[in-house]
Amino acid sequence: MTKNPLDANPFTLEFHPSPQPPKSTILELPIPQPQGAKTMPIRVTVWNENRHEQKNPKVAEIYPQGIHGALKGALEGQGFEVKTATLDQPEHGLGGNVLEQTDVLIWWGHLAHGEVSDETVAKVQARVLAGMGLVVLHSGHFSKIFKALMGTTCDLKWREADDKERLLVVAPGHPIVEGIGEYLELEREEMYGEPFDIPAPEELIFVSWFTGGEIFRSGATYTRGRGKIFYFRPGHETYPTYHYAEVQKVIGNGVRWAAPLASADPRVFGNAVALEGK
Ligand code: ZN
Repeated sequence: MTKNPLDANPFTLEFHPSPQPPKSTILELPIPQPQGAKTMPIRVTVWNENRHEQKNPKVAEIYPQGIHGALKGALEGQGFEVKTATLDQPEHGLGGNVLEQTDVLIWWGHLAHGEVSDETVAKVQARVLAGMGLVVLHSGHFSKIFKALMGTTCDLKWREADDKERLLVVAPGHPIVEGIGEYLELEREEMYGEPFDIPAPEELIFVSWFTGGEIFRSGATYTRGRGKIFYFRPGHETYPTYHYAEVQKVIGNGVRWAAPLASADPRVFGNAVALEGK
């Protein structure tokens, strides 16, 4: 009888189930998850400093509901479940279980980064590391939370002179630029210019050109721990930038991209049983 040549193969793979590590080594915060995966909307919290809107009638005219109100309306129109939080609320609107019930946090700040408590920054950072998405907009580049997650000064050049901005898509096919085409243009915006003191982005999505001749890395992604971070430049408060459909679409795409996976397995750290038996 002829022997099946496969039986003699010394390299036949054997399946060894992984030994289960002790339960005590799972040291992770619960991962925020969109409830019910695809059927439930992604839960977004829009955080806004909300000071320019109080102090500058021009900004209040552009954003009568605040920048947070404009973003809330735009994102609800895209099917997200949206809450808002502002600096002057108790615990900056992020107390209780707000962060636990947030899949993606959006951050806009400018005048009062220093008034955000270190305790809140630490809580937000912990949630990002555990899987919450973070979309940082415009002058949020100087926020405590963005600087803490980047580990650099996040400084840049700037000018308020009604520059035109053209954001060129440099990652065609990326989910954040779905439906955007080759570029988007804003007739008037504040200029941000290089050097932008950030770590090298994991993915560069947009590069901006301004009429003054400057360029800027205006869309950049990072991962920190389990969390996904998207920085998106436009949104100076004296321009109606967040009312533009294409800008709203990029932010919505960014939220969808940054949302945690519903099916993510917990990460396991600490003292480990050998994977190979001894
Ligand atoms: Zn600005």
